[in-house]
Amino acid sequence: MKHVPLRPALASLPPYVPGARVPVGAAAYKLSSNENPFPPLPSVVAAIADGAVDVNRYPDMYATELTEAVAEHLGVRPGQVVAGCGSVAVLGHVLAAFCDAGDEVVHPWRSFEAYPIAVTLAGATGVPVPVGADGRLDLPALAAAVTDRTRVVLVCTPNNPTGPAVHADELEAFLAAVPRDVLVVLDEAYVEFVRDPDAADGLAALAAHRNVVLLRTFSKAYGLAGLRVGFAVADERLAAGIRAASTPFGVSHLAQLAGVASLRATDELLARVDRIVGERTRMLTGLRDLGWDVPDSQANFVWLGIGDDAARFAETATRAGVVVRPFAGDGVRISVGEPEATDVVLAVARDVRR
Ligand SMILES: *Cc1c(COP(=O)(O)O)cnc(C)c1O
Repeated sequence: MKHVPLRPALASLPPYVPGARVPVGAAAYKLSSNENPFPPLPSVVAAIADGAVDVNRYPDMYATELTEAVAEHLGVRPGQVVAGCGSVAVLGHVLAAFCDAGDEVVHPWRSFEAYPIAVTLAGATGVPVPVGADGRLDLPALAAAVTDRTRVVLVCTPNNPTGPAVHADELEAFLAAVPRDVLVVLDEAYVEFVRDPDAADGLAALAAHRNVVLLRTFSKAYGLAGLRVGFAVADERLAAGIRAASTPFGVSHLAQLAGVASLRATDELLARVDRIVGERTRMLTGLRDLGWDVPDSQANFVWLGIGDDAARFAETATRAGVVVRPFAGDGVRISVGEPEATDVVLAVARDVRR
């Protein structure tokens, strides 16, 4: 019997494992997807509700108001901003704009699990470069992995799932070493949570290097994961290419309105980020005091690189009422959420240690 063949690349695709969901009615905290534990602000809910009556119409294809608001917020030109249906989708559009079949994309590993999937679907070849034992990206090794076939290097800072941010001096040396016709994507999904004074400044790197693209999202600090909206910031010529490769009408009307309302409420939202950062410090310090080896985290999660013990830790945590994210054989990522959830995490970490 003849059958329709799937692309061979699909057979090799690693699955994207979403963070486990909490069963309805269960007394549990969901610390498995790096979500914002705070409910949306009333002003954001009102903007979404107001937009509901217009959903019979297509959204503004270029998300004009949102793009302008983002540009003003970041101090760039609107033509440099390309919005999409979550920054994961924007990454797909970036790869579609710059990669042909067989081109190489260098990326850290372990890093964001969407990378190998997006690279493979783009028809490109992923070149994974190991993250250091301290959870830090190895930028010299990433630069050394660049060949004539490399079109893109992905740099995740802070790195999901390990936590540390790339430092300014590391990024400068890296950008000096990478050829100018190779695109460097700085995935800054957690940039609002960074407090490390040595951390690289993506916007400054973008201003100084035309081959830099920033990826940002409303999903984490801004708490809009459910609406799916993120964006790229790049040189206008590159931004136009990414826009051309984007899904038409990819950002819903409601997501556009919520994004604009969120930028208006930046102070209020960043005050919440401060509280999450405080909770992160408490979780990190608590785990270290218990004797756990935890890399620095500049994001809204912490990483336990416990290898084969990951599954067992996650099961124990679930029984105690917190759902965390195990990466089989590698470690466990624990999102920072409610203070009560931190208490449970620390109790589990103490018991598992015994
Ligand atoms: C969460 C995350 C994103 C953002 O994804 P969205 O599609 O915008 O929700 C991007 N990159 C990394 C590394 C992430 O962890």
